[in-house]
Amino acid sequence: MSNELLESLRWKKFPVLNDGYICLTDVMGSEKDIIAAARISYGKDARGELGTELASDEKTLLRYLFRNRHNTPFEMAEMKFIIRAPIFVFRQWHRHRTQSYNEYSGRYSVMIDSMETVNPDQWRVQSTTNKQGSGIGEVQWPDDTPFDVYNDEQSAAHYLSSRQRELHEHMTHVYQERLKFGVSKEQARIDLPVSNVSEMYAKCDISNLMHFLSLRSDGHAQVEIRSYADVILYEMVKVLFPNVYQAFIDFRLEAMMLSRLDQLVCREMQKHPGWHFEDQFYRSVFELVVTEQLPEEWSRGKRCRERDECYEKLGKLLGFIE
Ligand SMILES: Cc1cc2nc3c(=O)[nH]c(=O)nc-3n(C[C@H](O)[C@H](O)[C@H](O)COP(=O)(O)OP(=O)(O)OC[C@H]3O[C@@H](n4cnc5c(N)ncnc54)[C@H](O)[C@@H]3O)c2cc1C
Repeated sequence: MSNELLESLRWKKFPVLNDGYICLTDVMGSEKDIIAAARISYGKDARGELGTELASDEKTLLRYLFRNRHNTPFEMAEMKFIIRAPIFVFRQWHRHRTQSYNEYSGRYSVMIDSMETVNPDQWRVQSTTNKQGSGIGEVQWPDDTPFDVYNDEQSAAHYLSSRQRELHEHMTHVYQERLKFGVSKEQARIDLPVSNVSEMYAKCDISNLMHFLSLRSDGHAQVEIRSYADVILYEMVKVLFPNVYQAFIDFRLEAMMLSRLDQLVCREMQKHPGWHFEDQFYRSVFELVVTEQLPEEWSRGKRCRERDECYEKLGKLLGFIE
């Protein structure tokens, strides 16, 4: 990482969501420092240098360390960010105990007059397969919508966005009113929604940052926090720590863990000739193997998440599933 590269990124605001952003404010250490820390184990020259590219044996070492979860050398470099985001994003972010935070205070200061809003084309329906996730489809008017609310001219999504606007206006008004009555700031804010925007500093070492990104840049993470994680990963880590980035993509984000039972299914399926040729055949051999070879909790019952995940993993390996 060169000084110029770092300076080109420092304080650059990357807009995220309606009114949020993320900005890298500081970096401590480089990939050289990660290598230097690892090499102290065997008494080699252990000085990191800013602005020097990794030699090929150093890249190999870094990939080895990452692959085998030798995490502490990756704690020798750190990144610090300033983040503006809705409180519901911070609620998820703050679960990561290995970062240091300092947040805007609604006890000292008037709450930021900004809420995350959802445009009509951004409402997401409840997923039918993942209780925590969103699915594909458009929001619909419920069957019991009262006649005076239902509007032929307006889509359900437009209705929801206009209701959100009304709600935000009302809540902001009530909050401001309380302040005028002389209510303390710490109490006046208590009914404000989690869509209210806040700001914080966050600092994290690279080892824990990659753990954060493995959870929050993943498809299972809520899209709003993922939008921030993706900026960190693709706009910052990729540029400043390119070998860490590549190892992360190769060994974590796009890697696949095969459990003992996954491997058993794989081995058993290989005994059936042609199982990998056709989508339909893959499904029937999978079901046969699961029923005949695997423990009851896997093979019986309508729903078994482990079994579904195994089916998906092998399907991905064969290219039947995206
Ligand atoms: C898709 C998704 C859905 C989620 N759903 C829910 C939910 O429904 N409800 C909910 O409450 N949370 C939920 N979470 C939050 C989740 O359970 C974790 O709290 C969060 O992801 C932080 O993970 P972590 O503890 O590994 O990370 P960090 O706190 O950053 O910790 C990193 C690692 O450090 C170690 N560590 C940190 N602190 C300790 C400690 N005190 N003791 C031992 N080891 C420690 C652990 O190895 C840990 O993995 C969800 C997270 C995701 C990504």
